[in-house]
Amino acid sequence: MAARFCVECGAALEEREAFGRSRPVCSACGHVHFEDPKVGVGVVATRAGRILLTRRNHEPRMGMWSFPAGFVDAYENVVAAAAREALEETGVHVRVGPLLGVFQEAGSRVVFIAFAAEAGADVPVCGDECLDVRYFAPDELPPLAFDTDGAVLDAWRTLAGIGGAIAAGDAAGSSVELESG
Ligand SMILES: [Zn+2]
Repeated sequence: MAARFCVECGAALEEREAFGRSRPVCSACGHVHFEDPKVGVGVVATRAGRILLTRRNHEPRMGMWSFPAGFVDAYENVVAAAAREALEETGVHVRVGPLLGVFQEAGSRVVFIAFAAEAGADVPVCGDECLDVRYFAPDELPPLAFDTDGAVLDAWRTLAGIGGAIAAGDAAGSSVELESG
């Protein structure tokens, strides 16, 4: 995944100590290649109190269940990306609601932003990246794929427990409404 060639001059990169840690540095011109984080986004989307999950058909963690999620494109609105990924993966339109939190597995390049969402009436349909998609009762969830899924779920339970009905924001809007409790 890591870059192998210098974006400035095209020469090979090599791992070298730079700015406090080992980083890819150009062997010819000395340009330091700073890796950017990847921004992931996902939703805990509910309808009638049940949570929409997809079963992954690809690695990592193929066969396990997860929240509809994906990567944010550069320049894409994060809230719109959450709605887009949910629709692509499940066929369900969602209204993206309050922020649940920002999550990161130890040592991971991915910064994951999770929102609560309200799922529309569409019948769930598997997208390209799933084996199955369906709603689960919150106390009957299957094993989830990612280390951070438990923390995402905890944040959702806290929100659902304190706030009752989830306030939904505008999926096309540029701002995210935060619940103050
Ligand atoms: Zn170079």
